[in-house]
Amino acid sequence: QESSRARQFEVLQWAESLFQRTLLNSPEAEPARKYLHGRGIDEETMRKFRLGFHPSGWDWLIKQSQGKYPLQLLEDVCLVAKKDNGGYYDFFGHRIIFPIHNERGQAVSFSGRLLPGDERPSKYKNGSATPVFNKSRLLYALDLARDEIRNQDQAIVVEGYTDCIALHQHGIQNAVVTMGTALTDEQVTVLKRFARRVILCFDGDDAGQDAASRSVERFLAQDVDLRILTPPDKLDPADFLESHGADAFRELSKNAPQAWDFRFQMAKRKYGTGTIDGRERVLTEMLNVLAQVPKLSTSVRESILIADLAHRTSVPEETVRGLLNEVRSSGPKRV
Ligand code: ATP
Ligand code: MN
Ligand code: MN
Ligand code: MN
Repeated sequence: QESSRARQFEVLQWAESLFQRTLLNSPEAEPARKYLHGRGIDEETMRKFRLGFHPSGWDWLIKQSQGKYPLQLLEDVCLVAKKDNGGYYDFFGHRIIFPIHNERGQAVSFSGRLLPGDERPSKYKNGSATPVFNKSRLLYALDLARDEIRNQDQAIVVEGYTDCIALHQHGIQNAVVTMGTALTDEQVTVLKRFARRVILCFDGDDAGQDAASRSVERFLAQDVDLRILTPPDKLDPADFLESHGADAFRELSKNAPQAWDFRFQMAKRKYGTGTIDGRERVLTEMLNVLAQVPKLSTSVRESILIADLAHRTSVPEETVRGLLNEVRSSGPKRV
């Protein structure tokens, strides 16, 4: 039978404190502390994000839980997993621990990062979804960033835990992280409760920019002011802060283009607008983007986008509207 939510929160909190004490105090955690310091994460930040360490060994946590918590409970919250032979092993063995909290600041899951030089697969290992951990809704660090997001009427969304932690440590405390790469509708709905403006700042590499581009389509349907910040030189926000500092980041975020512009520029780079063929492709791609949006939140927003697309491509508005309806009814066109 399934354990109760109260017990699940209890064991998660117990493990979180154990991991944290280990990181801060245990001799075994020295390489982890050194690594985090080397990345510019100081002890205050480690405490703020309640970072932890799980030493090596497949039953370190299991041993400590004995007489306190049944294995079934640990399995329910993804702290241990079953081996093929039916026994259990520690899920996060020998990793730096990033606890994941819900909006109320309760630990609901963990992510574990390998130390440098560790050759095992998966740099990060994330806990699976559980009854208390809804991945598609949760935003990492929202419990810490919520007030600042409200104050600034703006949220910064990044893709990595370390990006978010670096931003907070540099005094940019309205940053949160998506769980997975692209942003979900549910996460947008959550963010909208606190701010109208959202800056998406995914990694500058191809994977990050693809995820940003996919997020644009979801966001067009929502009445938020979405900007896309692309770190230069394929850097991620943490790397950028380390080499350029917080003021340079603030400057970038001031100049971040609107999501729609970002998407349009992307299409322009791909096809060019110097030729008739290029312009037609740009128009087709942007119509496909517009048509993917399930339903625009207001017809005003839709009219603005159609007018803008018409203006940018020098095609009459009625033609654009007609083409959009065509794509909507018969599916995306080949670009
Ligand atoms: P670091 O700076 O510590 O190397 P990062 O955040 O820059 O980490 P990325 O490789 O850019 O790491 O990945 C971004 C995010 O994607 C991570 O924070 C993590 O949430 C997730 N992620 C990365 N690699 C994996 C993986 N192998 N399995 C699951 N999730 C991953
Ligand atoms: Mn990346
Ligand atoms: Mn990084
Ligand atoms: Mn990264």
